[in-house]
Amino acid sequence: MAAQARPPRKALVTGAARGIGLAIARQLAQDGMQVLATDVDAQALAMAVSDLAQQGFAVAGEPLDVCSRAEVRALLHTHGPLDVVVNNAGIASRLLAFGDIAASELRRIFSVNVSGVFVVAQEAARQMKEGGRIVNIASRGYLGGAGASHYVASKAAVVGLTRAMAIELRWRGITVNAVAPGMVDTRMLDDFSAPMRRSLERREPSGSAADPQTIADAVAFLSSARAAQINGQVLLVDGGKSVGMPPL
Ligand code: NAD
Repeated sequence: MAAQARPPRKALVTGAARGIGLAIARQLAQDGMQVLATDVDAQALAMAVSDLAQQGFAVAGEPLDVCSRAEVRALLHTHGPLDVVVNNAGIASRLLAFGDIAASELRRIFSVNVSGVFVVAQEAARQMKEGGRIVNIASRGYLGGAGASHYVASKAAVVGLTRAMAIELRWRGITVNAVAPGMVDTRMLDDFSAPMRRSLERREPSGSAADPQTIADAVAFLSSARAAQINGQVLLVDGGKSVGMPPL
């Protein structure tokens, strides 16, 4: 008797209209998953999905604000249960000294970077079956850094959430991991002035911001069936900057 082909795994990527999220959506589609690309920017998402279609990737697109539990629930009602969830949507802001960060700015960053991850993961995990994968995009910044303590704190919270969720969900055969990128060449870097960006790039081991594809490759591995034994981990994809700087 011929073996029955398994249906493709269903993956949701948040913040997939551009940058790292778009690279992840493309890679997971290339790996044979049925990908649902989502973003709060409906227009940019439609353009991205149409570009992907022209490249031969049948990726579906749905507008989604990760801060809205109602939107997340409605999306999962139609498209769930999911096998893979990539919590990529995130925001940053221009460099600000700790003393200058307004409470409203702290809340703005946390609402997307922390609550957004929490809500999407929580709602998706309710329906997820054994073999499920949740990958959260943190940042090397979670280790610390000057000029963005609100962003640093939000990404440290993503790491904490990842580790705590991994413990609770492992009994159901679901893994939860984080990928922590160094500097990546996306529009998020538009928050920096050109001289500041050049100075930051010089401090990267490669001397420049990484291609979003390098992050997509790490996410693709953690999303795959073969990563079943990796759980609650943070994979730093930063050329090794986080292990230290070379001697002067
Ligand atoms: P980007 O700004 O190019 O893309 C972010 C996407 O998220 C955009 O399409 C935006 O519309 C979407 N988004 C913002 N708020 C949203 C919301 N409420 N709901 C749904 N979508 C929303 O940024 P990027 O560099 O591709 O960043 C992706 C992730 O990688 C973020 O979590 C970011 O913090 C993280 N990261 C980026 C870098 C870097 O250097 N670019 C480094 C470390 C971590």
